Amino acid sequence: MNNIFEKEKELFISTYKRIPLEIVKGEGVYLYDKEGNKYLDFFSGLAVNALGYAHPAVNEAISDQISKYIHLSNYFITEPQIRFAEKLIKYSGMSGVFLSNSGTEANEGVIKIIRKVKGKDKKIYTFTGGFHGRTYGALTLTASEKYQQGFEPLLQNIGYIKFNDSEDLLAKVDSNTAAIFIEFIQGEGGIFPASGEFVKNIEKLRKEFSFLLVADEIQCGLGRTGKAFAYEYYNVKPDIVVVAKSVGGGLPLGAFLVSEELKDILTAGNHGTTFGGNPVACAAGNVILEKVFEEGLLTRVKENGEYLIDLLSKLKEEFPKDIKEVRGKGYMIGIEHNYECSKLVEQFRDRKTLVNCTNQNVIRILPPLIAEKEHINFFISTYREILKEMNQ
Ligand SMILES: *Cc1c(COP(=O)(O)O)cnc(C)c1O
Repeated sequence: MNNIFEKEKELFISTYKRIPLEIVKGEGVYLYDKEGNKYLDFFSGLAVNALGYAHPAVNEAISDQISKYIHLSNYFITEPQIRFAEKLIKYSGMSGVFLSNSGTEANEGVIKIIRKVKGKDKKIYTFTGGFHGRTYGALTLTASEKYQQGFEPLLQNIGYIKFNDSEDLLAKVDSNTAAIFIEFIQGEGGIFPASGEFVKNIEKLRKEFSFLLVADEIQCGLGRTGKAFAYEYYNVKPDIVVVAKSVGGGLPLGAFLVSEELKDILTAGNHGTTFGGNPVACAAGNVILEKVFEEGLLTRVKENGEYLIDLLSKLKEEFPKDIKEVRGKGYMIGIEHNYECSKLVEQFRDRKTLVNCTNQNVIRILPPLIAEKEHINFFISTYREILKEMNQ
């Protein structure tokens, strides 16, 4: 076979900018390329690989399930789905669940519930800088020209509010508001946490106008920030919670969870999916939920996250011309630079460390939740080396 990168150009619609590495294997927090190089992976498949690569319990759950059956269709309810739903309900405190294949698909279902319960004329609001997916409904929720331009007309009755801008919030939300979608910590937008004051104002308006609050926890949920869900940092109880990314242990899986009042809005035939809640994905997901919620991983992420942010803040003091701000919680951190970051990503890669750049000037790290202090130390010393060299 030719070089896979040349082949890709020949075969694929070019929607992705690929990392020029040919990965042959993953283990724990490391990836290995064809040349035998070992990389510390600090963005873990875009917040998916919470337990790293080749986790024995995940692999065992998958092979155990595929030896029974891989797929039955949603005409059947299966045991792995029941166990998975039970755990999601238990740890979120919600009352009903629908299983999808991805984040964007889960958000589509949520839009349908909102429309059905609130009517077609009421408006759904989302926030600038947010990201909710790429299918048409979710794309309309994603208040960003970068993603929407060229694809209009979009869905009707969806409006946008400036994130963390209480004035804009108070001016727009009223009795005609059906719902608000929020990422309590924005991921793709550059790791921006909602401010406490902003969330208080949302809650005040929610009491007054009783719209639905939807927490998009696809990236920030399931232990990523050191709490089960990012909304817990704000003492908020959403009406709907959406998860995906890490929830299937690396297999395609997503879910939306609803409160008791919303449990019976969608009825037989209203919504569905062929693959959603695939039993193998649920079997893998069960291991993720066990490890994150029952085996102390949360506490460790919280502690190590504080350690990591502390070291990054010191780095910021050391290199004020480079680093503008350090944001985030747990293992969801953005380091904003005073310049565009793609070069920096390459320098990390040259030093066998994989990080991501989002919103042009933000180095985003999403380490697997199993990452330890020694990995954090390696990452920080690599970062320091790079910045030192750049400042010479
Ligand atoms: C990734 C992401 C989505 C979309 O999920 P897909 O599985 O890629 O469709 C939606 N919302 C947030 C916050 C995300 O990070």
